[in-house]
Amino acid sequence: MIDLHTHSCASDGTVPPEKIPELAAAIPLGAVALTDHDTVTGIDAFCEAAKAYPDLIAVPGVEISTDYSGKEIHIVGLFIDPHNDVLLEFLERQREERCRRNEMIFRKLASLGYPLDAGEPEFSRFSDASAIGRPHFAAALRRIYGFSDLQEVFRKLLGRDRPAYVRRKTPDPATAIDVIHAAHGVAVWAHPVYRQRNESAFVRRFCKKFAPLGLDALECYYSLFGPPETQMLLQTAQDFGLGISGGSDFHGEHSTAQLGTGMGGLAVPDDAFATLAARKR
Ligand code: AMP
Ligand code: MN
Ligand code: MN
Ligand code: MN
Repeated sequence: MIDLHTHSCASDGTVPPEKIPELAAAIPLGAVALTDHDTVTGIDAFCEAAKAYPDLIAVPGVEISTDYSGKEIHIVGLFIDPHNDVLLEFLERQREERCRRNEMIFRKLASLGYPLDAGEPEFSRFSDASAIGRPHFAAALRRIYGFSDLQEVFRKLLGRDRPAYVRRKTPDPATAIDVIHAAHGVAVWAHPVYRQRNESAFVRRFCKKFAPLGLDALECYYSLFGPPETQMLLQTAQDFGLGISGGSDFHGEHSTAQLGTGMGGLAVPDDAFATLAARKR
């Protein structure tokens, strides 16, 4: 079993990057990737800590948000070189945009009657404000304003088209794919269907356009997928000659998905790993 999609507290997870190998080895997983949003600051600590577990393959990764005709598309880069200049410069720009967006969320929340102070513990532990994402806002809002859980905050305030949502400028998927390739990585379309909606026509349209532009693989196994989603994605990957990936999207306490097993039924097969490693640059 492997897990090629996880977040640490270097982005919007709650577990330190150096702790993830220990959790993965305890399951045990054969491979685990750290794929924080728009940052690789946790990768060195993650890889260093993984050396204590010789049976565990630690894969350096990143998750990049992109925009494709108004839809938010996430591209995960696996096997990236975290010191690559093209990648680092690109991620820096994404994080500047995140900071701008975060400032606007603070202002919108205040105008909606939910003022938050940047000194709250959910924010103040970051030396780099660009690591702050909507889950941190949701956690602070739950604690201070008594929402029942993070999902309720997303439903009422922070989700797309909700009143405190602020759009962030993100690149085209092809740009993210090119940057991942420049950093010698493999580009995976993360959660191609979201929350169990089987949008097979859109998935095929996207693959038709982006497979020729270098998309390497589809995330066919995911915490929120049932057998129909996984089957449709495995078939699509085969039809378009794409590799197969899978992961939990573990966020520690910021989500209910568990490392490796997701909501309980996830088990990404080991042999998916070979289809990805074969595409390493
Ligand atoms: P951001 O990247 O700062 O815009 O925040 C998006 C993150 O919020 C995602 O990566 C998820 O970790 C988290 N999230 C959890 N629930 C939701 C939801 N209902 N809608 C959007 N994002 C969500
Ligand atoms: Mn996230
Ligand atoms: Mn994502
Ligand atoms: Mn993710």
